[in-house]
Amino acid sequence: MKLAELTRLYDQPLFDLIAQSRAVHLQHWRGEQVQRCSLLSIKTGGCSEDCAYCAQSAHYSTGLEREELMPVGEIMSAAQRARAQGATRFCMGAAWRGVRAGTAKFEQVLETVREVSQLGMEVCVTLGEIGPAEARKLKEAGVTAYNHNIDTSPEFYPEIVSTHTFENRLTTIAAVQASGMSVCCGGIVGMGESALDRLRMVEVLSNFEPQPESVPINCLMAMPGTPLAEQPPVDIFDLVRLIAVTRLAIPKARLRLAAGRTRLTREGQALCFFAGANSIFYGDKLLTAANPAANADVALLRELGLVLEEVESG
Ligand code: SAM
Ligand code: SF4
Repeated sequence: MKLAELTRLYDQPLFDLIAQSRAVHLQHWRGEQVQRCSLLSIKTGGCSEDCAYCAQSAHYSTGLEREELMPVGEIMSAAQRARAQGATRFCMGAAWRGVRAGTAKFEQVLETVREVSQLGMEVCVTLGEIGPAEARKLKEAGVTAYNHNIDTSPEFYPEIVSTHTFENRLTTIAAVQASGMSVCCGGIVGMGESALDRLRMVEVLSNFEPQPESVPINCLMAMPGTPLAEQPPVDIFDLVRLIAVTRLAIPKARLRLAAGRTRLTREGQALCFFAGANSIFYGDKLLTAANPAANADVALLRELGLVLEEVESG
């Protein structure tokens, strides 16, 4: 979708916008179903990159301890716990600029994926930059989706990261698409970008061929010690508008309310689901930041009459 059209949609009265996005949502999805994803940081901290939002960057003193890649057994236990709590997608994130085939750490990730993929959940990994060889091997090992966020507009990206480029991000995404893994790609709001930047991000995402299967929308978790530590929270109506426009532009994507839900009220989250969000990140911790308690999430979804998707047993 073109920027002019996205802007026109975005600038409508709020209820007109969410009525449209709800209608499109219902054409493509069973409107009441919400997927719960669990996210585990399998390699935390000490990252070479300088992403201004990220507590895991070695460039900032955030008080986060650098950890080694988690052993396969520990990851399996976390995956089993997530499944028992009701997650149907398990995502594993590593604080790396990227990873190359043939290295010990890549082999360990492949082994982990082979095991986790036996549990019947969708398996997603986010390991930074990869090329065609890595993408092929991850797919063979059982990864269903690769997450690599563009995070913001191409124009604003250099304000946020200087150690790699927006183009680098697109190159990895192209390798993922070519491998046949599905693409999970979204961004962060609340980093100081304009509404236009947010819409440009949606424009870029909606013009991927094919469109991303999964679009996480993160609200910045302002992490102490990072350059964005003092950013104010995103206005809830701006967030709802963005979700609605994303639903209209990328109708078949899973739209995931990702980081930052601790800053949203129950009413705010309800509006996000109405506008087109149909997945949440679930579990008490999100990489290195807090997340709403799993039981509070289940209670909210039940109160709204939304249906919790379950892993099929067997
Ligand atoms: N290093 C890999 C990369 O950059 O693609 C994978 C891990 S990275 C932590 C995954 C995503 O988490 C980022 O692209 C960003 O969208 C999100 N993220 C990280 N820190 C965040 C924060 N403080 N607030 C909101 N989202 C954040
Ligand atoms: Fe590293 Fe990823 Fe954090 Fe950027 S977002 S500093 S690449 S872990």
